[in-house]
Formats: sequence, C-alpha cells, structure tokens
Amino acid sequence: MKKCVKCGTELIDQARFCTHCRAPQPMPEEMMQTGAPYAGNMMNQVPIAQGNGPKKGKGPLIAIIAAIVLVLAVGGGFAAYHFVGVKAEEDEDERSERRSDKDDEKDSKDDEKDSKDDEKDSKDDEKDSKDDEKDSKDDEKDSKDDEKDSKDDEKDSKDDEKDSKD
Ligand SMILES: [Zn+2]
Repeated sequence: MKKCVKCGTELIDQARFCTHCRAPQPMPEEMMQTGAPYAGNMMNQVPIAQGNGPKKGKGPLIAIIAAIVLVLAVGGGFAAYHFVGVKAEEDEDERSERRSDKDDEKDSKDDEKDSKDDEKDSKDDEKDSKDDEKDSKDDEKDSKDDEKDSKDDEKDSKDDEKDSKD
C-alpha cells in the first residue's frame, strides 16, 4: 500500500489518483516493472496497441468481433423493432379491416332492413289501394241506396197523393 502524496490517504499501489483528494500519484518505474497485475496489463497492452508482440492482431480482432456483435445486436434489435412495427401495422390493418368488415356487415343488415321496410311499404300501398277499391265500391253502394231512397220517396209521394184522394 502507498499513501497519497498530498493528503496521506491510504491508496492501492496501482492508484494513479488519490481516492480522497484526487491528487495525481506518481507511478515509480520499479512498480511498473515488478509485475503488479495492473501494471503488467499496462505493459502487455502497449505492444498490442502498437501491433507488436505475440498477441498481435488480437486487439483489433476483438474490436472487429465487438463491432460485429454490436452490429448484430443493433441490427437484430432494429430487425426485431421493425418486425414488431410491421406486426403492429399488420394488426392495425387487420383490426381496421375487421372493423370495416363489421361496418359492411352492419350496412348490409341495414340494407336488408331497408329492403324489408320497402317491402312493407309496398304492401301498405297495396292495402291502401285495396281500401280505395273498397271505398269506391261503398260509394257505388251508397249511390244505389240513394237511388232506392229516391224511388221510395217517389212511392211515398204517390201514396200521399192516393191518401189525399181518399
Ligand atoms: Zn489525497
């Protein structure tokens, strides 16, 4: 362990900054070379970054794999989103289609009802027409009754004449 050069807070050997006061901590040369885990990684990563050493190319390969994974993840996510979006659109279409089907069905039933109403109206008209015909016959009968009444009157009048002679 080492202590902060500024405030004396105890720090891990690999600390480059104080955890308490954020003061930069010196990294002595011997620490870089004694093989402390962090320092060792640092030592290994430098040649990789420069493209040297036995692990040559692994860094970029990992980067490429990471990029592919990222693309797949993003692409897959996009595809999934797209698929879900399309599915949702299909559902929407299906729903609206179903709705319009129902409307059509309702319209069709309304039409059917209208048609029945028309039929009923037509029967009413027919009945009215028959009523008219009956009225007309009644009129005719009334007219005959009037004629008969008139003849009766004539007869009465003759009877009166006869009575008066008596
Ligand atoms: Zn400090």
